[in-house]
Parts: sequence; structure tokens; C-alpha cells
Amino acid sequence: MGGGLVGLTAALVLRHHGVAVTVVEKRSTTSPQPKARRFHMRSMEIFRELGLAGLVHHAARDLAGHDRMAAGRTLAEAEQLPLWQPPGPNGGVVDVSPEAPCLIAQDVLEPVLREAAVDAGATVHFDTELVAFEQHDDEVVADLLDRVNGDRSRLRARYMVAADGARSPIRQALGIGRSGRGLIGDPSVNVYFHADLGEVVRGREFNLCQIEHPGTPGALASVDGRRRWVFMGSGDATGRDWPAELRTALGVPAPDLEVRSVLPWQPEMLVADRYTLGRVHLAGDAAHVMPPFAASGANTGIADAHNLGWKLAAVLRGHAAPALLDSYDAERRPAGWFAADQSSRRTLNLRDWASAPDPALAHPYVLTAGGFQYTAGALCTDPEHTNDPEPIAEFDPAGRVGTRIPHRWLDRARTRSTLDLAGPAWALLTGSRTPHPTTGHPGLAVHRLDTDFLPAGQSLLIRPDHIIAWRGTDPAAATEALTALLNGRNGATEFART
Ligand SMILES: Cc1cc2nc3c(=O)[nH]c(=O)nc-3n(C[C@H](O)[C@H](O)[C@H](O)COP(=O)(O)OP(=O)(O)OC[C@H]3O[C@@H](n4cnc5c(N)ncnc54)[C@H](O)[C@@H]3O)c2cc1C
Repeated sequence: MGGGLVGLTAALVLRHHGVAVTVVEKRSTTSPQPKARRFHMRSMEIFRELGLAGLVHHAARDLAGHDRMAAGRTLAEAEQLPLWQPPGPNGGVVDVSPEAPCLIAQDVLEPVLREAAVDAGATVHFDTELVAFEQHDDEVVADLLDRVNGDRSRLRARYMVAADGARSPIRQALGIGRSGRGLIGDPSVNVYFHADLGEVVRGREFNLCQIEHPGTPGALASVDGRRRWVFMGSGDATGRDWPAELRTALGVPAPDLEVRSVLPWQPEMLVADRYTLGRVHLAGDAAHVMPPFAASGANTGIADAHNLGWKLAAVLRGHAAPALLDSYDAERRPAGWFAADQSSRRTLNLRDWASAPDPALAHPYVLTAGGFQYTAGALCTDPEHTNDPEPIAEFDPAGRVGTRIPHRWLDRARTRSTLDLAGPAWALLTGSRTPHPTTGHPGLAVHRLDTDFLPAGQSLLIRPDHIIAWRGTDPAAATEALTALLNGRNGATEFART
């Protein structure tokens, strides 16, 4: 339910796993607002697995190379700032992912996802509103309203994904509360406008430009680098002469300036108290809202859909027990909390910029390259690593259980990554001298690989969502672990040491 970014991604992941899916969206079009523009490496890795990364990068070509920040009193006076890249292990800039992050406005990305979902065989209904639903032992029954002709219909499904946005009528109907810091910032306003500024910014292209004019402080975001812009300011949205304020911020006459929409908002951090109730699973903003300063809202939702998709598919296809679905809440709720907390900390740091940086801030790659470690869920936790958890303040992926498999190129041409070894299938990675597993599991591909994060004699079991589920020395035990995990049993004690 919900044909935004997360609902469409969920449909794509489910189709990738061969599941029949229907998307229901009350609006007649995809998002009319640019909203999110920064899609992290991890989201692009998910699109890569879905075969969409090339399409997304192509659709994003207007903003290719607009990675820098800029600052100045007005846009006309602004100067580009040097490109900053987070350092990796040993201080160097590292090859973190097979996919570069992508700057693409949400209103450009969503039509790509919608078309891909239809092409992949999803049934996609826009102009259709969920007005009520009931859960039964074996299905969910949804009452739908066709908003064009007023017709009502019923849709029966084994499961329902509530990707119906921050206000989530489904979450509210289920009585699921939210916890968190709540409102944490000042009232803000995003003004989306058109003005031909291509010549003004030529040679100084930017992603975000800090405007320091005392009359109109704020930031200007490029949506296409030429005509489409968002001014992010503070205070009330109403009763203001926006064209005049924008011209002050721009420092140029901009005769063709046209305000398209004014969106009041306020930074907020809230996470649903449970992600699953019966046959309904919350994903995206329905499950978590967070301030935009770590650009994590949409990215966290995409990861929700990726996590939930393979689990629903495994249950629906009879490969896993329904108990596997309990791991969705166990994994993604802490991940949502982590992303929302980190986004809030960045907001508070922005407001209190004179104080020392918050020591609990995560390394940027931990946020953008899937560095969050699941400690409970569909995993066999590894006692050897319990005292060596994935760090947060630095980026040091080492193939720990509960983390995304570290990226390493598999060929000189740098076309195949370790991330390509899993999804939609499970993968077992063993060193070239490790004995071949004697028992197999249908759907488990075995790969021989000699790499730094797989010491001699060790093997790794990788889930369809690229997460390391098990680590051990006897690869045959991996298939037992796989069976246990699919049956919803966490094999921590039973399997971890084998
Ligand atoms: C100004 C702004 C800037 C942002 N910048 C970033 C950024 O840089 N990076 C980032 O990661 N995130 C960013 N975000 C957050 C990002 O836009 C959201 O996290 C993202 O849109 C969430 O997607 P979603 O699919 O969960 O929800 P939504 O996009 O809200 O989609 C939910 C959909 O459900 C539909 N729906 C609701 N109820 C029903 C119903 N009863 N029946 C049928 N359909 C229904 C709605 O019409 C809507 O289309 C930003 C947000 C804003 C507002």
C-alpha cells in the first residue's frame, strides 16, 4: 500500500524473487515534489541487484558531477567548496562499493521505479485508495476506492506492506505507536521553484549552496542544475513574498522565476514501536521519520523493502516458515532507530555548531554503505565476534555476522563485486583450500574466493540481501544454519562455532 519510493521498491524486490504483487497508490501521479535527492551507495547496490542501477544513473545525468557544496552571501556571489570525501581505513579514501552514490530528485526517480515495476510484472494501480482493511488467519482483505470513477473493490493478499508514508493510515489503524525525540528542529520551509539559472551557476555547479544573506539565510538545492531548484529556509511558510525573497537569495533578477510549491516541515525523529503486526509490515516513512540532514529517510526505506522482500518471498514460496518474518522487526527496527538517531544528532550538531562534534556520530560510510550491524534476527551470531562488533565511529567492514558483505572487486575490469555473489540467491563463500561442502541446499550457490575478510579455513553464508548470516570453519554446517534460519530459529549457540 503506497506507490511512493518505498512501495515501488518493495514491489520490485518481490518481483525479483518471483512473487505476485499489487501496488495501490491514491495519488494519480508519482511524487510531484523533488523531496529526496541523495541516494546512498547502499541504495544503488540494491538497484544494481534489481538491474536498475544503470537506468537510475542515466535518469540522474542532469546532476552528474554536481557533488560539491557551495557557499556565499547570494547565489551570484557563491563559490564552490572543495570536494570532501570521507576517509576510509588507514585514513585513505577507499573503494567502498561497486556503485557510486547518486544525486537524483525523487520526482525523477519514482517514474523510473514505477515503469520498472510494471515491466517486471507488478500490478500497479494509481488513483486507488485503501479505505479499510481486515486481517484474517491466512490473508489480508483490503477495501479499495477508485478515485476516478468512485468504484469500490476488494483485494485479497497473503501479506500487506504498509508503505503509506509518515502519517500511515495503516499504522494508525493498527494502533502502533511511535517513539523517539519527536520534533527536534525549528519550523522550516522548502520552496520549490523554476528559474533558468544555468548560466549563473555554470562552472560553479553544486549539490547544495549555503546562502548567507542576512535577509534570506538558507540553502539552495539543485534539482536539475539548470531550471529546477529548492530553497530551504526557516520560519513560517505563509504570508511571505517568496518571489522577492528568492530573488534576494539568488542575487540576480531571474525574470522567469516561478514558485511551484511551498512545503512547510519540521525535523522530526519517530520510529514505530513495532514494524509487524500479524500479516502487515510497515516500511519506509510509515515505520520511521527522521530529519533530512543525513539524507537517510528514503535510503532507510529502500533497505527496509530489500530486507522484507526476500523474507516474504521465502515464506510465500514455501521455502521458509512464517517465523522468519519476525526477523524483519528484529533487524530493521534497530536499523531505523540508528538512522533516525544519527540524523537527529546531525540536526542538533547543526543547531549547536559551536560545541564539540558529537562523539556518537557514525562515520559517513557506516550510514551510506550499509555499515549498520544486525545483532538479532535471521543470523547465527558469532561468539568470536561478540567482543569485536562492527565499529560505528570508523568504517571497518571485516565480514562480521550481521553486516553487509564487504565490497571487493572480483575481476581486473572492476565489473563484478563480492556483492554480486548473493541475491536473489543465498551464497556460500569458501576459501579455495576449504573442503567443499558435503551437503548442499537448493538455492545455495557456492563460491570459492580468496580475500582478506575470509581467513584461511573460514566460510561465510550470505543472505539474499547481501547480509552475512553465518561464519564458521565447516561449510557443511552452513547448510544446517541456513535451514535453521529459514525456519525462524536463530542458531546462535547451535551453529556459530562449527
Ligand atoms: C523536503 C524533503 C527532503 C528530503 N530529502 C531526503 C534526502 O535527501 N534523502 C533521503 O533519503 N530522504 C529524504 N527525504 C525523505 C524522503 O522523501 C522520504 O523518506 C520518502 O519519500 C519515503 O518514502 P515512502 O515511500 O516511505 O513514503 P512516501 O513518499 O510518503 O509515499 C507514501 C505513499 O503512500 C500513499 N498513500 C498514503 N495513504 C494511502 C492510502 N490510504 N491508499 C493508497 N495510497 C496511500 C501516498 O499518496 C504516498 O504516495 C526528504 C523528504 C522531504 C519532505
